[in-house]
Amino acid sequence: MQTKIILPEDKLPTQWYNIIPDLPGPLEPVISPRTNQPVTPDELLAIFPPALLEQEVSTQRWIDIPEQVREIYKMWRPSPMFRAHRLEKALGTPARIYYKYEGVSPAGSHKPNTAIPQAYYNKLHGIKRLATETGAGQWGSSLSLACNMFGMECTVYMVKVSYFQKPYRKSMMQMWGATVYPSPSDQTNAGREALLQDPDSNGSLGLAISEAVEDAATHDDTNYALGSVLNHVCTHQTVIGQEAIEQFKMVGDYPDVVIACCGGGSNFAGIAFPFLAEKAAGKNVRCIAVEPSSCPSLTKGVYAFDYGDTAKLGPIAKMYTLGHDFMPPGIHAGGLRYHGESPLVSQLYNAGLIEARSVMQNGCFEGALLFASSEGIVPAPESSHAIRAAIDEALLAKEEGKEKTILFNLSGHGFMDMTAYDDYLSGKLEDYEYPAEMVQESLRHLPKVEI
Ligand SMILES: *Cc1c(COP(=O)(O)O)cnc(C)c1O
Repeated sequence: MQTKIILPEDKLPTQWYNIIPDLPGPLEPVISPRTNQPVTPDELLAIFPPALLEQEVSTQRWIDIPEQVREIYKMWRPSPMFRAHRLEKALGTPARIYYKYEGVSPAGSHKPNTAIPQAYYNKLHGIKRLATETGAGQWGSSLSLACNMFGMECTVYMVKVSYFQKPYRKSMMQMWGATVYPSPSDQTNAGREALLQDPDSNGSLGLAISEAVEDAATHDDTNYALGSVLNHVCTHQTVIGQEAIEQFKMVGDYPDVVIACCGGGSNFAGIAFPFLAEKAAGKNVRCIAVEPSSCPSLTKGVYAFDYGDTAKLGPIAKMYTLGHDFMPPGIHAGGLRYHGESPLVSQLYNAGLIEARSVMQNGCFEGALLFASSEGIVPAPESSHAIRAAIDEALLAKEEGKEKTILFNLSGHGFMDMTAYDDYLSGKLEDYEYPAEMVQESLRHLPKVEI
């Protein structure tokens, strides 16, 4: 009985899969909040290197992974794919369940898959420092790791409430040489203004983004990096799905359904896009994006142009959104609390090429516990959304008495999220369904874009 399906290092993908040329329609333009017209490269070159901007709109289907990036990927890639024999048994399902495990990276999630190439292209362009924001700390730690690998400095604006509630992620970033400021900080105009208004402000992700972007825009040697949502981030993550396709060949199986949790959409894109290419070529495979009921951008949002950030400084993109002033409730899957969604994932969902569903917090944690007690790994609260959906698919197969092959992405481990599990185990977690009226209210403030 094979449990771990391991690809040798020489099977590490040599290219990323760019889905842009295979989209069901033309790529939607990104709009500048200043001109209300499509953004010009000049506006973005102040904070991103040219190579990443090229990838953002590239129509080249396969993009070579630089050799230096592949060498670093080899520290944890190819990542293992597991057959979840023990979970299948616990569920009594005829379904075969597989999971791709991205928690083996040094930072404990899929995020270094894009942090490494982002640092690489910035270094190549002569950039000395990267500035970014982080909420729960997963992206901040991944970028700190990447900058450290390339001898670059890293400045992380960490939402103040997390800075004090999650001190261990901060320590990780510091071990990898990053400078971490609680946001709002006194380092930027945006931060100082927020502190003036409320010296005890807890901060927000939108504000931390504003601080990091300001830092990058006002220093020549500094750029900005984003850990999800953008097209190039989704493209970098496709090593996950490409490896999984090879791993299925090794065991002579193929998934009927591919599942991943969806915050900004990058780990879903990473595992699903390579399978969507195979689907276009005739394979029969469903891809399901799973989001929290408390932050349901795909299942309850609208497909419209909206600001990417609360401060309305960044570009406007066409995506499924709950509105840029949507206030996410304090659920424990911090990485899934974004009002919008990757424009690529949004376009595919709008065209009916992928499915989406939302799940409640307690159901996710219940799934996470069953997973930990059968498979042993403590999953990240974000990943538990994929686990819940995979369990539901497996239970459906049992009910229907049908065989089925299920693949889900275990995007990270939950070793830094034990407060969340403490709360669940002591019965303190509450389910929350974002009220439709509040979504409607936020959607009244969408920008007017006419192009
Ligand atoms: C950040 C994060 C997510 C959500 O981000 P996506 O861009 O939607 O993938 C999911 N899982 C883990 C473990 C994360 O750190």
